[in-house]
Amino acid sequence: MQGLSLWDVLRPRRAEMVERLRSYVAHESPSRDKPALDALAGIVRARLEAIGADVEIIPNMTGGDHVRAHWRTAAGEGPPALILGHFDTVWPHGTLARLPFKVEGDRAYGPGVFDMKAGLVLVEFALRAIQILDLDVPRPVVALFTSDEEIGSPTSRRWIEEQARQSAYALVLEPPLPGGALKTARKGVGNFVVEADGKPAHAGIEPEKGISAIQEIAHQVLAIHALSRAPETTVNVGIIHGGTASNVVAAQAVARVDVRVSTRAEAERIERALHALRPVLPGALLKVSGCFNRPPMERTAGTEALFERARAISRTLGLELTEGSTGGASDANFTSAVGLPTLDGLGALGAGAHAEDEHVIVDSLPERAALLAALLLDLR
Ligand SMILES: [Zn+2]
Repeated sequence: MQGLSLWDVLRPRRAEMVERLRSYVAHESPSRDKPALDALAGIVRARLEAIGADVEIIPNMTGGDHVRAHWRTAAGEGPPALILGHFDTVWPHGTLARLPFKVEGDRAYGPGVFDMKAGLVLVEFALRAIQILDLDVPRPVVALFTSDEEIGSPTSRRWIEEQARQSAYALVLEPPLPGGALKTARKGVGNFVVEADGKPAHAGIEPEKGISAIQEIAHQVLAIHALSRAPETTVNVGIIHGGTASNVVAAQAVARVDVRVSTRAEAERIERALHALRPVLPGALLKVSGCFNRPPMERTAGTEALFERARAISRTLGLELTEGSTGGASDANFTSAVGLPTLDGLGALGAGAHAEDEHVIVDSLPERAALLAALLLDLR
C-alpha cells in the first residue's frame, strides 16, 4: 500500500462512515437503559472485532456494560495509547421518532451524533485505515467505550482510572470546541445539597413559635453564591424547594448546588466553605452533603507537551489544531487527574450537544479519522 495516504483511504469512505453513524444513532442508548446499552455494546464489540481487536465486555450489574478493546501491534508490550469514548446519550427513548437521523447539506443530524456516536465511527475507521495501509503503531492501543458518561460515570470511573494509570496518553473522542479546537482543560464539577430544618407553626396565629427553613435557606443561598470567583470558579443554586403551604412557617427547605472549578485548590476551597456553613437563624439546623464527582482537568505540562506534538502531526495532514477550555466535564477529567497527558475533543466537528439541532459536519468524519490515525501512528 505504499504511496497511499490516510486521506486516500478515508476520503472515499465518507458515505460509509455516515452509514455507520446512522446505524449507531438508530440504536437509542439512554444512560440508564441497561438492555439498550448492553445491546449497543454488543454491536460496538462486533465492529471492533472486525478490525482485529480483542474485545472484552466489562459486565456491569448496576448499569450498561462497558467495552474494552485491545490491539496488539508490532511494537509489542509497553504502556498503550488509550482511546476513550462513551456510547450512552442524554436522549430518552422515542427521541428518534421526533428527531430522526437525516443528512442535509453538509450536516448529519440525530440524537447523539455529535456527543458522541461519531467518535465511535472515527475510532473504527482510523484503525481500519492503519490496517489497510499496513502501518505500524508504535505502541499497543486500548479503546475503552463506556455506558454512563452522561450521568457522571458512576460505574465506569474505576475502569477509566485503572486503565489511565497504565497508559502512555489518552485521546478522548468527545465533541471539540466550535471549529474543531481540542479541549486541554475542563472544569471539575461538584454537586452539593444544602438542607435546612426549621420548626412549623401557623403563620397567622403564632408565627413566633416557628423557625422558617425557607428564610434560613435564603440566607444560605446568598452565602453560597458569594463563593463564586467567576469566570474560573462558578457556583449556582439551580433548585430550591421547601415549605408546605403559604400559611405555614416552613419546616424544611433544600437547595441544590452546582459548582465548577478550574483547579483542585478551588475545589478544596469550595468544599471546605460549603461544609463550614452554619445556620443564621437561632434554632435552625443545617446539613450539607455532596462532593466533586469529577476533578478539574488542569492543563498540565504533560498535556501541553502532548498537544504541541499533536499540532505538529496535524500539520503533516494540512490541518491546524487549536486548543481551548470548557466548563463542561467529561471522562478526560479522570484520566487527567491521575496524571495522564490527555487530549479531549478529538470527535467530529459539529454543534448542538444535548440540543435539538445536534449535528456533525459530514466532511469532518474522514478528516478527524485521519487525524486520530496520524496521532496513533506518530505520538511516541
Ligand atoms: Zn459526551
